[in-house]
Amino acid sequence: MSARILDGKAIAARIRARLAERVATLSFRPGLRVVRVGEDPASGVYVRNKDKAATAAGFDSATIHLPAETSEAELLATIARLNADPAVDGILVQLPLPPQIRTEAAIAAVDPAKDVDGFHPLNAGRLAAGQPGLVPCTPRGVMHILAESGVALRGARAVVLGRSQIVGRPMAQLLLGADCTVTIAHSRTKDLAAECRRAEVLVAAVGRPGMVRGDWIAPGAVVIDVGINRLPDGRLVGDVAFAEAAAVAGAITPVPGGVGPMTIACLLENTLDAALARRGAG
Ligand code: NDP
Repeated sequence: MSARILDGKAIAARIRARLAERVATLSFRPGLRVVRVGEDPASGVYVRNKDKAATAAGFDSATIHLPAETSEAELLATIARLNADPAVDGILVQLPLPPQIRTEAAIAAVDPAKDVDGFHPLNAGRLAAGQPGLVPCTPRGVMHILAESGVALRGARAVVLGRSQIVGRPMAQLLLGADCTVTIAHSRTKDLAAECRRAEVLVAAVGRPGMVRGDWIAPGAVVIDVGINRLPDGRLVGDVAFAEAAAVAGAITPVPGGVGPMTIACLLENTLDAALARRGAG
């Protein structure tokens, strides 16, 4: 193995420590509310981890857990109450939602100034227009990893594998904003391997275990693996075949311990940004 391992866990810990120091100097505690509907088991783990990290960094964090049969109108009423609450700076609606609730309706109901997931169309539009706004946590986390690892982005050929609203698209916008030449590849792309081989920076966010093989990677490329996939035997793996890729790449994020831990750190960053902007201290 030749690649440098990009340790997202360590970078995330440093970000959380810096945030905690910053929050300790404020005259208020930034308020984060996570809204969870129903009993999706993976969501339960995520929500608990978010709550724990937020509280440890000095945020005023709470989860509002609504029953699985909650109607869309009831969820929107809860979001409206949080929008109107001056102590609440950030609102996150945990996905997935039960089938009777339209995800787009829930996302659009969150006040864009409190939209710490960065999923509201206004924030997505701001990002696409190159304007400041709240940016989705996972792509923001990837940009931190690249910056803290000293990866030169200006003029670099970047390939983003995946075009979801949550990861792929905002990731491509952020890389474009950092002056990369960006290609977005997806399930209709003709020759994925050839596109990937052109990348100096490759970000994989497809949700297919080990899909990116070693021979898809240019020697020395920086490989960021956003994928989190649970195998039948319980192991957690990324979208990149790690051992093969690490033999070719210049640097690579592991799974777990790469991009995953950055997402919560960036949620806290977004919450602090939202708090400072709302309270006029930004
Ligand atoms: P989505 O399922 O929403 O999107 C997947 C994207 O990958 C789509 O654009 C899809 O293309 C593309 N794709 C799927 N299969 C293929 C294929 N065989 N060839 C080429 N492209 C393909 O997933 P997300 O973006 O939400 O998540 C991606 C991965 O990242 C998942 O493993 C998820 O668990 C992980 N994740 C990790 C986070 C973290 O904290 N680290 C946070 C969020 C997600 P098309 O649009 O054409 O269908």
